[in-house]
Amino acid sequence: MSKSRRTRRDFLKAAGIGAAAIVQSGCGERRRPGARIMGGPSKDAVREPARDVPVVYACDICVIGGGSAGVFAAVRAARLGAKVALVENNGFFGGVATAAKVNVWHSLFDTAGRAKIIGGLTEEVVGRLDRRNAVILTESSRSRYAVFNTFEMMIELDELVREHANIRPFLHARFVAAAKKAGRMTHAIIEDKSGRRAIEAAYFIDATGDGDVIDRLGLPFTKNDDLQPPTTCLFLYGLDGVKDSNSAFSLGQVVYDSRYANALKRGFLWYSEAVNMPGALMVAGTRVSGADCSDADQLTRAEMEGRRQARCIRDIVHDNFKGAEAVSIVGLSSCIGVRETRHAVCLHRLTEKEVLGGVRFADAVANGSYRVDVHHSDKPGLTFRYLDGTEVYLVPGREPVAGRWRPPQEQNPTFYQIPYRSLVPRGSKNVLVTGRLVDADRGAFGAVRVMVNGNQTGEAVGAACCLALRSGSNVADVDVRKLRDTLAEGGSVVI
Ligand SMILES: Cc1cc2nc3c(=O)[nH]c(=O)nc-3n(C[C@H](O)[C@H](O)[C@H](O)COP(=O)(O)OP(=O)(O)OC[C@H]3O[C@@H](n4cnc5c(N)ncnc54)[C@H](O)[C@@H]3O)c2cc1C
Repeated sequence: MSKSRRTRRDFLKAAGIGAAAIVQSGCGERRRPGARIMGGPSKDAVREPARDVPVVYACDICVIGGGSAGVFAAVRAARLGAKVALVENNGFFGGVATAAKVNVWHSLFDTAGRAKIIGGLTEEVVGRLDRRNAVILTESSRSRYAVFNTFEMMIELDELVREHANIRPFLHARFVAAAKKAGRMTHAIIEDKSGRRAIEAAYFIDATGDGDVIDRLGLPFTKNDDLQPPTTCLFLYGLDGVKDSNSAFSLGQVVYDSRYANALKRGFLWYSEAVNMPGALMVAGTRVSGADCSDADQLTRAEMEGRRQARCIRDIVHDNFKGAEAVSIVGLSSCIGVRETRHAVCLHRLTEKEVLGGVRFADAVANGSYRVDVHHSDKPGLTFRYLDGTEVYLVPGREPVAGRWRPPQEQNPTFYQIPYRSLVPRGSKNVLVTGRLVDADRGAFGAVRVMVNGNQTGEAVGAACCLALRSGSNVADVDVRKLRDTLAEGGSVVI
């Protein structure tokens, strides 16, 4: 004991850590009151002693991040016979769809509403929720979409995982580091209630949204200067009484009304039905502009600022309108909804021109019809661009500004595609990305980031890892014809 303590002190000293800053306790190190906090601009560092990390599980494919894209990657791989680990930081699966309470999956059809372009696990899960009366299928002038009960989604994803004995789930498990050998990732190091543990796998999928795996591995990524802002969603109850008493009431306008001291900075507010919660709406109206949620300190501030803004929304209505006595927050996202952080640099960067032009790819693994939807971080509102050449700039409280991003043409594309190459990081031998990590420029990302698209990329990388496993190849060398056939056999729409 004394020897190891001496050793520890020695390297702390060598690392330039003053003995005064650290006190040894029975179970580790504690900071003395008043000692400088680590992180930020400090030059100090603590060198951890080298240690052996137990390998808790060895498998074929390790999926890191259990949003719907990650879950679907794991399920697809498991259905193809692989032994899979699924690692999720939260105590449940679903990511933005459950933790952040975003309850809308967009259309499975092309923009004409005629051809089905998305099937697979997205369609299967919508069907499963429908059988539980936990989804509302809605049609608007521009598209059809599914609004679901986020709590039922959470449990349904558990069921889906549980049905596959060859998936080992790890919940409350945070990926913290990657081990690699000869350019291949060999282990995912996780921290969970049991401590620090390792998962060994032949292939890995980064489904963290933020690219934690590619970052720790040193694979290339980019970050846009003007990241789309994150949003804290809330379930707001009691607006019916307000609307009954104030015929012109518009939630999307009043929260930005500068007559109220707690008005939000002009952004964009939308809401949807809160399925199975009569009298409540799911409201997405907060936005924390400029926050990079892949930075720990900015994420902390964004979480607290998002919740502060959620309270402002409730208070503005409750305190200023007739019939608002019952208005209250009855549900809040358990983490802020992050729209954008890192993008993997992959073999192909999907462009807005390709998306809006409906370019077809020989290695297409996903189809989409959701518009280009860019939430501006430098000005209020958002811009929608459609495949038919039209565009709309929307700002709360103002008339929508309609226009065209290109002149009319005889025929318009009715869907776009995502190529497999946009999921293969440059330089990667055995790691793929999925979900919002897809390599896409700003405009293309505005379209492909939605969940019905991300879900398909999850299924694609799950299947691709299985094919790579069978042939012993690197992920870049997967036979894309075979991949597309495999996806079609598993229920995906492959065009
Ligand atoms: C407010 C808001 C509204 C939106 N509206 C819609 C909409 O209406 N419809 C739509 O389809 N899309 C919408 N989107 C976009 C869409 O929800 C996201 O782009 C999509 O969910 C991203 O999916 P993902 O699987 O890549 O990431 P996520 O859903 O974020 O999943 C990533 C998962 O990885 C886990 N994770 C992260 N880091 C680690 C780690 N180090 N170790 C272990 N686990 C980790 C996270 O906990 C999370 O569960 C919206 C997004 C936001 C934020």
